[in-house]
Amino acid sequence: MAENSVDPVSKSTPAPSLTLLGLGAMGTALARTWLAAGHPLTVWNRTAARAEPLAALGATVAATPAEAVAANRLVVVCLLDDASVEAALDGVDLAGRDVVDLVTGTPGLARARAAWVEQRGGRYLDGGIMAVPPMIGVPEAGPYVFYSGSQALFEEHRDTLSVPAGTRFVGADAGFAALYDVALLSAMYGMFAGVAHAFALIGGEAVAPSDLAPLLTSWLRAMAGSVTRTALQLESGDYTVGVVSNLAMQVAGTPTFLRTAEEQGVSAELLAPYFALMARRLAEGAGAEDLTGVVDLLRR
Ligand code: NDP
Repeated sequence: MAENSVDPVSKSTPAPSLTLLGLGAMGTALARTWLAAGHPLTVWNRTAARAEPLAALGATVAATPAEAVAANRLVVVCLLDDASVEAALDGVDLAGRDVVDLVTGTPGLARARAAWVEQRGGRYLDGGIMAVPPMIGVPEAGPYVFYSGSQALFEEHRDTLSVPAGTRFVGADAGFAALYDVALLSAMYGMFAGVAHAFALIGGEAVAPSDLAPLLTSWLRAMAGSVTRTALQLESGDYTVGVVSNLAMQVAGTPTFLRTAEEQGVSAELLAPYFALMARRLAEGAGAEDLTGVVDLLRR
Protein backbone atom coordinates (compact mmCIF):
# COMPACT_ATOMS: atom_id res chain seq x y z
CA MET A 1 0.00 0.00 0.00
CA ALA A 2 2.75 2.41 1.03
CA GLU A 3 4.74 1.54 -2.09
CA ASN A 4 1.77 2.29 -4.34
CA SER A 5 1.45 5.78 -2.84
CA VAL A 6 4.97 6.79 -3.98
CA ASP A 7 4.81 9.13 -6.98
CA PRO A 8 7.10 7.53 -9.60
CA VAL A 9 7.62 10.85 -11.40
CA SER A 10 8.85 12.83 -8.41
CA LYS A 11 10.90 9.82 -7.31
CA SER A 12 12.74 9.75 -10.64
CA THR A 13 13.18 13.54 -10.92
CA PRO A 14 14.84 14.93 -7.82
CA ALA A 15 14.60 18.68 -7.27
CA PRO A 16 17.52 20.38 -9.09
CA SER A 17 20.39 21.74 -7.05
CA LEU A 18 21.39 25.40 -6.98
CA THR A 19 23.70 27.94 -5.40
CA LEU A 20 22.64 31.06 -3.53
CA LEU A 21 24.98 33.96 -2.79
CA GLY A 22 23.74 36.26 -0.04
CA LEU A 23 21.96 35.36 3.17
CA GLY A 24 20.49 38.66 4.28
CA ALA A 25 16.80 38.94 5.11
CA MET A 26 15.71 38.16 1.54
CA GLY A 27 18.38 35.56 0.75
CA THR A 28 17.60 33.64 3.93
CA ALA A 29 13.87 33.61 3.12
CA LEU A 30 14.62 32.30 -0.38
CA ALA A 31 17.02 29.66 0.94
CA ARG A 32 14.47 28.29 3.38
CA THR A 33 11.88 27.72 0.65
CA TRP A 34 14.30 25.86 -1.63
CA LEU A 35 15.49 23.67 1.23
CA ALA A 36 11.91 22.97 2.31
CA ALA A 37 11.08 21.95 -1.27
CA GLY A 38 13.98 19.48 -1.30
CA HIS A 39 16.41 21.38 -3.57
CA PRO A 40 20.05 20.66 -2.69
CA LEU A 41 21.34 24.14 -1.92
CA THR A 42 24.88 25.50 -1.67
CA VAL A 43 25.09 28.87 0.05
CA TRP A 44 27.74 31.53 0.57
CA ASN A 45 27.57 34.66 2.70
CA ARG A 46 30.27 37.21 3.49
CA THR A 47 29.51 36.84 7.19
CA ALA A 48 29.73 33.08 7.58
CA ALA A 49 27.68 32.90 10.80
CA ARG A 50 24.51 33.74 8.87
CA ALA A 51 24.78 30.41 7.05
CA GLU A 52 24.71 28.32 10.23
CA PRO A 53 20.90 28.05 10.63
CA LEU A 54 20.67 27.00 6.98
CA ALA A 55 23.41 24.40 7.38
CA ALA A 56 21.28 22.92 10.14
CA LEU A 57 18.46 22.64 7.57
CA GLY A 58 20.70 20.79 5.13
CA ALA A 59 22.40 23.54 3.09
CA THR A 60 26.00 23.05 2.01
CA VAL A 61 28.07 26.04 3.09
CA ALA A 62 30.81 27.20 0.70
CA ALA A 63 33.83 29.04 2.05
CA THR A 64 34.16 31.36 -0.93
CA PRO A 65 31.98 32.69 -3.77
CA ALA A 66 34.17 30.74 -6.24
CA GLU A 67 33.52 27.48 -4.40
CA ALA A 68 29.77 28.20 -4.29
CA VAL A 69 29.63 29.08 -8.00
CA ALA A 70 31.59 25.96 -8.94
CA ALA A 71 29.07 23.76 -7.11
CA ASN A 72 26.06 24.35 -9.38
CA ARG A 73 25.11 25.56 -12.80
CA LEU A 74 22.27 27.72 -11.43
CA VAL A 75 23.64 30.56 -9.30
CA VAL A 76 21.14 32.92 -7.67
CA VAL A 77 22.58 36.18 -6.32
CA CYS A 78 20.74 38.10 -3.58
CA LEU A 79 23.32 40.55 -2.26
CA LEU A 80 22.76 44.13 -1.14
CA ASP A 81 23.58 46.01 -4.36
CA ASP A 82 25.42 45.77 -7.63
CA ALA A 83 28.72 46.79 -6.01
CA SER A 84 28.49 43.76 -3.71
CA VAL A 85 27.84 41.53 -6.74
CA GLU A 86 31.02 42.88 -8.31
CA ALA A 87 32.91 42.33 -5.05
CA ALA A 88 31.68 38.73 -4.72
CA LEU A 89 32.01 37.59 -8.33
CA ASP A 90 35.08 39.46 -9.55
CA GLY A 91 37.63 36.87 -10.66
CA VAL A 92 35.19 33.94 -10.26
CA ASP A 93 34.92 31.55 -13.23
CA LEU A 94 31.39 32.00 -14.63
CA ALA A 95 31.85 29.87 -17.76
CA GLY A 96 28.77 27.68 -18.22
CA ARG A 97 27.00 29.22 -15.21
CA ASP A 98 23.41 30.50 -15.23
CA VAL A 99 23.47 33.64 -13.11
CA VAL A 100 20.15 34.95 -11.75
CA ASP A 101 20.70 38.38 -10.20
CA LEU A 102 17.90 39.35 -7.79
CA VAL A 103 19.64 42.50 -6.56
CA THR A 104 17.51 45.64 -6.85
CA GLY A 105 19.14 48.01 -9.34
CA THR A 106 18.62 50.21 -12.35
CA PRO A 107 17.94 48.98 -15.91
CA GLY A 108 21.36 50.27 -16.92
CA LEU A 109 23.13 48.35 -14.16
CA ALA A 110 21.28 45.16 -15.13
CA ARG A 111 22.28 45.54 -18.80
CA ALA A 112 25.89 46.15 -17.85
CA ARG A 113 25.92 43.18 -15.45
CA ALA A 114 24.37 40.97 -18.17
CA ALA A 115 27.16 41.90 -20.59
CA TRP A 116 29.74 41.34 -17.83
CA VAL A 117 28.46 37.82 -17.11
CA GLU A 118 28.13 36.94 -20.80
CA GLN A 119 31.71 38.09 -21.47
CA ARG A 120 32.74 35.55 -18.85
CA GLY A 121 30.88 32.72 -20.60
CA GLY A 122 27.74 32.66 -18.46
CA ARG A 123 24.05 33.26 -19.16
CA TYR A 124 22.26 36.07 -17.29
CA LEU A 125 18.76 36.64 -15.97
CA ASP A 126 17.90 39.72 -13.96
CA GLY A 127 15.15 39.67 -11.33
CA GLY A 128 13.13 42.32 -9.52
CA ILE A 129 11.47 40.93 -6.40
CA MET A 130 7.93 42.19 -5.79
CA ALA A 131 7.71 40.96 -2.22
CA VAL A 132 9.13 41.43 1.25
CA PRO A 133 10.77 38.47 3.02
CA PRO A 134 7.70 37.28 4.98
CA MET A 135 5.83 36.87 1.65
CA ILE A 136 8.46 34.52 0.21
CA GLY A 137 7.17 30.94 -0.01
CA VAL A 138 3.63 32.09 0.86
CA PRO A 139 1.74 31.93 -2.48
CA GLU A 140 -1.46 33.35 -0.97
CA ALA A 141 0.47 36.56 -0.14
CA GLY A 142 1.01 37.06 -3.88
CA PRO A 143 4.82 37.32 -4.10
CA TYR A 144 6.37 37.35 -7.56
CA VAL A 145 9.57 38.26 -9.34
CA PHE A 146 9.95 40.12 -12.64
CA TYR A 147 12.57 38.39 -14.79
CA SER A 148 14.31 39.61 -17.94
CA GLY A 149 17.35 38.58 -19.94
CA SER A 150 18.07 35.05 -21.16
CA GLN A 151 14.71 33.42 -21.89
CA ALA A 152 16.42 30.06 -22.37
CA LEU A 153 17.84 30.29 -18.84
CA PHE A 154 14.43 31.31 -17.51
CA GLU A 155 12.60 28.43 -19.20
CA GLU A 156 15.20 25.89 -18.12
CA HIS A 157 15.06 26.89 -14.44
CA ARG A 158 11.48 28.13 -14.25
CA ASP A 159 10.31 25.38 -11.87
CA THR A 160 13.15 26.03 -9.44
CA LEU A 161 12.68 29.81 -9.65
CA SER A 162 8.94 29.36 -8.99
CA VAL A 163 9.51 27.77 -5.56
CA PRO A 164 9.92 30.97 -3.49
CA ALA A 165 7.64 33.27 -5.54
CA GLY A 166 5.68 33.54 -8.77
CA THR A 167 7.57 34.37 -11.97
CA ARG A 168 6.88 36.96 -14.68
CA PHE A 169 9.24 37.04 -17.64
CA VAL A 170 9.08 40.54 -19.14
CA GLY A 171 11.56 40.43 -22.00
CA ALA A 172 14.96 39.56 -23.41
CA ASP A 173 16.28 43.03 -22.54
CA ALA A 174 18.03 42.42 -19.21
CA GLY A 175 17.04 45.91 -18.07
CA PHE A 176 13.29 45.32 -18.20
CA ALA A 177 12.88 43.52 -14.86
CA ALA A 178 14.45 46.52 -13.11
CA LEU A 179 12.35 48.89 -15.21
CA TYR A 180 9.09 47.22 -14.18
CA ASP A 181 10.28 46.86 -10.58
CA VAL A 182 11.28 50.52 -10.24
CA ALA A 183 8.14 51.73 -12.06
CA LEU A 184 5.91 49.91 -9.56
CA LEU A 185 7.94 51.00 -6.56
CA SER A 186 8.05 54.62 -7.78
CA ALA A 187 4.25 54.67 -7.92
CA MET A 188 4.23 53.18 -4.43
CA TYR A 189 6.37 56.06 -3.12
CA GLY A 190 3.96 58.55 -4.69
CA MET A 191 1.18 56.84 -2.74
CA PHE A 192 3.24 56.88 0.46
CA ALA A 193 3.82 60.63 -0.03
CA GLY A 194 0.09 61.27 -0.34
CA VAL A 195 -0.65 59.17 2.72
CA ALA A 196 2.00 61.03 4.74
CA HIS A 197 0.41 64.35 3.76
CA ALA A 198 -3.08 63.11 4.70
CA PHE A 199 -1.98 61.96 8.16
CA ALA A 200 -0.07 65.22 8.67
CA LEU A 201 -3.27 67.18 7.93
CA ILE A 202 -5.23 65.48 10.74
CA GLY A 203 -2.33 65.72 13.21
CA GLY A 204 -3.28 67.81 16.24
CA GLU A 205 -7.02 67.47 15.50
CA ALA A 206 -9.47 65.19 17.29
CA VAL A 207 -9.29 62.68 14.43
CA ALA A 208 -7.65 59.37 15.22
CA PRO A 209 -5.29 58.07 12.53
CA SER A 210 -6.99 54.70 12.86
CA ASP A 211 -10.35 56.36 11.99
CA LEU A 212 -8.88 57.87 8.83
CA ALA A 213 -6.97 54.74 7.82
CA PRO A 214 -9.83 52.59 6.47
CA LEU A 215 -11.31 55.57 4.61
CA LEU A 216 -7.93 56.36 3.08
CA THR A 217 -7.41 52.73 2.09
CA SER A 218 -10.75 52.40 0.32
CA TRP A 219 -10.35 55.80 -1.39
CA LEU A 220 -6.91 54.87 -2.76
CA ARG A 221 -8.31 51.54 -3.98
CA ALA A 222 -11.16 53.34 -5.77
CA MET A 223 -8.76 55.85 -7.35
CA ALA A 224 -6.45 53.06 -8.57
CA GLY A 225 -8.95 52.60 -11.42
CA SER A 226 -7.44 55.70 -13.02
CA VAL A 227 -4.24 53.78 -13.81
CA THR A 228 -5.91 51.85 -16.63
CA ARG A 229 -7.54 55.01 -18.03
CA THR A 230 -4.14 56.73 -18.09
CA ALA A 231 -2.61 53.78 -19.96
CA LEU A 232 -5.39 53.82 -22.57
CA GLN A 233 -5.02 57.59 -23.04
CA LEU A 234 -1.24 57.28 -23.45
CA GLU A 235 -1.69 54.55 -26.06
CA SER A 236 -4.34 56.47 -28.02
CA GLY A 237 -2.53 59.81 -27.70
CA ASP A 238 -5.92 61.37 -26.85
CA TYR A 239 -5.95 62.52 -23.23
CA THR A 240 -9.59 63.62 -23.39
CA VAL A 241 -10.98 60.08 -23.73
CA GLY A 242 -13.11 59.09 -20.74
CA VAL A 243 -12.20 62.18 -18.71
CA VAL A 244 -14.10 62.27 -15.44
CA SER A 245 -12.56 65.33 -13.80
CA ASN A 246 -10.81 67.63 -16.26
CA LEU A 247 -7.50 69.38 -15.66
CA ALA A 248 -8.98 72.92 -15.59
CA MET A 249 -11.35 71.96 -12.77
CA GLN A 250 -8.60 70.17 -10.87
CA VAL A 251 -6.12 73.07 -11.14
CA ALA A 252 -8.86 75.44 -9.94
CA GLY A 253 -9.11 73.25 -6.84
CA THR A 254 -5.43 73.17 -5.95
CA PRO A 255 -5.44 76.41 -3.87
CA THR A 256 -7.89 74.68 -1.52
CA PHE A 257 -5.35 71.93 -0.88
CA LEU A 258 -2.53 74.43 -0.35
CA ARG A 259 -4.63 76.65 1.93
CA THR A 260 -5.79 73.66 3.97
CA ALA A 261 -2.18 72.61 4.43
CA GLU A 262 -1.34 76.14 5.59
CA GLU A 263 -4.32 76.27 7.98
CA GLN A 264 -3.27 72.96 9.48
CA GLY A 265 0.39 74.01 9.78
CA VAL A 266 1.50 71.36 7.29
CA SER A 267 4.22 71.75 4.67
CA ALA A 268 2.94 71.37 1.11
CA GLU A 269 6.36 70.27 -0.11
CA LEU A 270 5.11 66.83 -1.22
CA LEU A 271 2.05 68.13 -3.10
CA ALA A 272 3.45 71.36 -4.57
CA PRO A 273 5.67 69.82 -7.31
CA TYR A 274 2.75 67.82 -8.70
CA PHE A 275 0.45 70.84 -8.62
CA ALA A 276 3.14 72.86 -10.46
CA LEU A 277 3.19 70.27 -13.25
CA MET A 278 -0.61 70.34 -13.49
CA ALA A 279 -0.52 74.15 -13.81
CA ARG A 280 2.16 73.97 -16.52
CA ARG A 281 0.08 71.54 -18.53
CA LEU A 282 -3.01 73.73 -18.15
CA ALA A 283 -0.96 76.71 -19.40
CA GLU A 284 -0.31 74.67 -22.56
CA GLY A 285 -4.07 74.71 -23.24
CA ALA A 286 -4.85 71.21 -21.95
CA GLY A 287 -7.78 72.16 -19.70
CA ALA A 288 -10.15 69.57 -21.18
CA GLU A 289 -7.68 66.73 -20.69
CA ASP A 290 -7.15 64.30 -17.87
CA LEU A 291 -3.94 64.50 -15.78
CA THR A 292 -2.13 62.28 -18.30
CA GLY A 293 -0.26 65.21 -19.90
CA VAL A 294 1.93 65.34 -16.78
CA VAL A 295 3.61 62.18 -18.11
CA ASP A 296 4.76 64.12 -21.18
CA LEU A 297 6.07 66.98 -19.04
CA LEU A 298 8.15 64.54 -17.00
CA ARG A 299 9.67 63.05 -20.14
CA ARG A 300 10.93 66.38 -21.45
P1 NDP B 1 20.20 42.60 3.74
O1 NDP B 1 20.75 43.93 4.10
O2 NDP B 1 19.39 41.86 4.75
O3 NDP B 1 21.41 41.63 3.29
C1 NDP B 1 22.41 42.11 2.45
C2 NDP B 1 23.27 40.97 1.99
O4 NDP B 1 24.30 41.49 1.12
C3 NDP B 1 23.96 40.21 3.11
O5 NDP B 1 24.11 38.87 2.73
C4 NDP B 1 25.32 40.92 3.15
O6 NDP B 1 26.33 40.13 3.70
C5 NDP B 1 25.57 41.10 1.67
N1 NDP B 1 26.56 42.12 1.34
C6 NDP B 1 26.46 43.46 1.53
N2 NDP B 1 27.56 44.08 1.07
C7 NDP B 1 28.38 43.10 0.59
C8 NDP B 1 29.65 43.10 -0.02
N3 NDP B 1 30.32 44.25 -0.24
N4 NDP B 1 30.19 41.94 -0.41
C9 NDP B 1 29.51 40.77 -0.21
N5 NDP B 1 28.31 40.69 0.39
C10 NDP B 1 27.73 41.86 0.76
O7 NDP B 1 19.38 42.81 2.38
P2 NDP B 1 18.16 41.92 1.81
O8 NDP B 1 18.51 40.48 1.93
O9 NDP B 1 16.90 42.39 2.40
O10 NDP B 1 18.17 42.38 0.29
C11 NDP B 1 18.96 41.73 -0.69
C12 NDP B 1 18.51 42.25 -2.05
O11 NDP B 1 17.12 41.95 -2.22
C13 NDP B 1 18.68 43.77 -2.20
O12 NDP B 1 19.12 44.11 -3.49
C14 NDP B 1 17.26 44.28 -1.96
O13 NDP B 1 17.01 45.51 -2.63
C15 NDP B 1 16.44 43.14 -2.57
N6 NDP B 1 15.07 43.15 -2.06
C16 NDP B 1 14.86 43.14 -0.72
C17 NDP B 1 13.57 43.26 -0.23
C18 NDP B 1 13.30 43.30 1.24
O14 NDP B 1 12.19 43.70 1.61
N7 NDP B 1 14.24 42.88 2.09
C19 NDP B 1 12.42 43.39 -1.14
C20 NDP B 1 12.75 43.28 -2.56
C21 NDP B 1 14.04 43.20 -2.97
P3 NDP B 1 26.65 40.19 5.29
O15 NDP B 1 25.68 39.24 5.94
O16 NDP B 1 28.06 39.77 5.37
O17 NDP B 1 26.45 41.63 5.72
